[in-house]
Amino acid sequence: MIWIERWAEASRTPSVANRLKLLTHQLAMGGLDLLFPPHCVGCGRVGSFLCPHCLATIQVPEERTCPGLDGVCVAAEYDGVAGAAIRGLKYDGQTRLAEPLGLLLARALRQTNWQVDLVVPVPLHDTRLAERGYNQAKLISLYAARALGLNVEPGAVRRVRNTSSQVNLSAQERRANVKGAFESNSELVLGRSVLVVDDVLTTGATIAACAEALRNAGASRVYGATAAGAVFSPVPAAGDIDSPV
Ligand SMILES: [Zn+2]
Repeated sequence: MIWIERWAEASRTPSVANRLKLLTHQLAMGGLDLLFPPHCVGCGRVGSFLCPHCLATIQVPEERTCPGLDGVCVAAEYDGVAGAAIRGLKYDGQTRLAEPLGLLLARALRQTNWQVDLVVPVPLHDTRLAERGYNQAKLISLYAARALGLNVEPGAVRRVRNTSSQVNLSAQERRANVKGAFESNSELVLGRSVLVVDDVLTTGATIAACAEALRNAGASRVYGATAAGAVFSPVPAAGDIDSPV
């Protein structure tokens, strides 16, 4: 498709480091597939993490907007199998679910006509990263970017302040909680069009705070994309989640 060619041309060649990281992850996952055949997160069928039947049930959300972003792309409603996949990835250590989520996101991004120079996952604070062992947004972004021929620069935004969980906060409190939590590297983003990737969009406070850091560092455009979009509820249900904590 023409838009992919345009994007591939506009972006730098995916770095060797990123390719190696992805390859290592895939080799490890391939070994796991033999030992533990994948089950669909939606229906439990053996053979894939997200079977074609469940993939077909995924609802594409209504278009969202977010202050400070040139565009927002949300691949699926959080209710349903996409949410189940994200919970498995984020809270159950099932890193293999990053691949179907990344591909789902790539599919949604193909519907946009954005010109993107580089992809930046929403970073976790070092403390949180040490606890979980991986950044789910980064894993999703690597698979999505590879499918789209885009380069990922995880170092382009850094979380400089640890923030408390957004789960029990109001929309206003969420914005205050993440304000100033991120810094961006102008050497990587100056004059460039950046796509920020996260797992879930709720109020958009986190992605907006990243966008602000990117603009302060001179990014020409900032888009946001998430695998799922949750409807914000001021009183979250038990087990509700928010990103990226
Ligand atoms: Zn299924």
